[in-house]
Amino acid sequence: MSDPSIHCSFCGRSKEDVDVLIAGVTGHICDLCIEQADGILKEERKPESGSSDFQLKLPKDIKSHLDDYVIGQDEAKKTISVAVYNHYKRILNPGTVNDIEIDKSNVILLGETGTGKTLLARTIAKMLDVPFCIADATVLTEAGYVGEDVESVLTRLLQAADYNVEQAERGIVFIDEIDKIARKSDNPSITRDVSGEGVQQALLKLLEGAEINVPPQGGRKHPEQKLITINTKNILFICGGAFAGIEKIIERRINRTPIGYQQKGEQIAEEALLQFAAPADLRSFGLIPELIGRFPVLTYLNPLDAGALRQILTEPKNALCKQYIELFRMDGIALHFDASGLDYMVEKAVEFKLGARGLRSIMEAVLNDAMFELPGSDQKELKVTRNFAQRQFDDAQQTGLRVA
Ligand code: ADP
Repeated sequence: MSDPSIHCSFCGRSKEDVDVLIAGVTGHICDLCIEQADGILKEERKPESGSSDFQLKLPKDIKSHLDDYVIGQDEAKKTISVAVYNHYKRILNPGTVNDIEIDKSNVILLGETGTGKTLLARTIAKMLDVPFCIADATVLTEAGYVGEDVESVLTRLLQAADYNVEQAERGIVFIDEIDKIARKSDNPSITRDVSGEGVQQALLKLLEGAEINVPPQGGRKHPEQKLITINTKNILFICGGAFAGIEKIIERRINRTPIGYQQKGEQIAEEALLQFAAPADLRSFGLIPELIGRFPVLTYLNPLDAGALRQILTEPKNALCKQYIELFRMDGIALHFDASGLDYMVEKAVEFKLGARGLRSIMEAVLNDAMFELPGSDQKELKVTRNFAQRQFDDAQQTGLRVA
């Protein structure tokens, strides 16, 4: 039996009522009081501005930071820089300013897979030092159906924020494959479509800036878990999707309205049509108007051509080549990439139509053998020429390290 006469000197609880009681020179403190004191300390040490401890960066600075990591995609970078800037201006000036309440600037990014949509969102979040999470729209279902409830998106954000609700409440959520929850038919009178419209409706709730009860562990497997309330008012949502086939929709709409290019009777290449994408096209694609209305910013990413893929290999701050050179350097091996070797890898990426996503697996296939054999051997240098890359790549394809 513990000694009932020992009490916490701060709250008076007896030893039996607490988990841990730590003895000091003249008194004791219990775990509950330590936690409370810790909270007070954190509160006290918070910077003056209260709502934020991050630096608001100008759109031009945001863009130039993005340039360090993302090749091309100038239009998307500019649009997203402005959206993020406005978003954080809004957070730093809560409530209404001069009777004007500024709306949120959630963003939709249109572009083929592997063109940098996720990379853009991730780079922004890192730069701002706010919690960031990626969710996949395809696994979301309406409550009650197999799959994940939309609240699971916020669970991820909460986890990314180490369960700091205040941090999570100004984080960035990237929802990938938003096009996959489009209504399958453009006919709204059709009976409710579980996989599409229901999820869109459910997502609306998150986007509207409501108080959402979030299961901290996610899923429905822990029905006993206590829910945590998160206000989504200041969470920035960025959605991405390939919207396969939307070019045709855009083209049809443009052909109906007389605008510049068409008057000249010019034909626009299909890839170039994305730049004309408008909310109406998303609607025709199968997103519900309420959802589209929550995404005032719409921008697009270009497909990456061979030139861009080549740049992606070597130019970004954490370019693939730089990463592998570093990996080899840690083993005392000097890795060089010959221009011909780089060209070969780009050709393969174009051939497999995997965008920049393919570059990484091609690089793996080319270097895997060397990464196995060279550490601990006498060879201290490796040059990746076209011949070397081709030989390694073909071998890898045969031995199972497949790229596509
Ligand atoms: P998605 O458009 O499908 O979201 P990601 O952003 O996930 O594509 O890109 C996949 C990978 O390809 C990234 O990790 C990144 O390394 C590379 N990548 C894609 N686009 C670019 C780009 N424009 N600049 C630099 N790297 C890119």
